[in-house]
Amino acid sequence: MENLKAKKYEDLLVSNGLKRTGARLQVLEILSNRNSATSQPYLENVVGKDIDRVTLYRILKAFEEKGIIHKVIDNQGTANYAICSDGCSANRHEDGHVHFNCSKCLRVYCLDEVKIPTLKLPKDFKVEQVNLIVSGICSRCRASN
Ligand SMILES: [Zn+2]
Ligand SMILES: [Zn+2]
Ligand SMILES: [Zn+2]
Repeated sequence: MENLKAKKYEDLLVSNGLKRTGARLQVLEILSNRNSATSQPYLENVVGKDIDRVTLYRILKAFEEKGIIHKVIDNQGTANYAICSDGCSANRHEDGHVHFNCSKCLRVYCLDEVKIPTLKLPKDFKVEQVNLIVSGICSRCRASN
């Protein structure tokens, strides 16, 4: 099972024209293994011993450009990263879902099944990107109450 997963990450890198490096695989694995988005401070903390900040920054930027991950700025202004849906490709993200920021545990969730509604903008305004963050208490925190 572990080998299969590792193979999947390697394929993902190769199919996006990225070299298989230990650092890239490590970042990909951490981002994939969480059911919520991963915050940058958490990521830096976990990989800090192995990957310096500049390298980490470059890896995240490359993943974002290739349509592998998307960035979500939460209500505290912290960057979070989540694995993209299959519809995303290089320079074209199709993550039209709502993000949920829990005000208790501060986690950011991708609510894949909740689509951002189409907005009717004034004439002559062109949409480039829409971010919708809903804040509240997540199911996990509610259950532990
Ligand atoms: Zn995406
Ligand atoms: Zn929570
Ligand atoms: Zn998302």
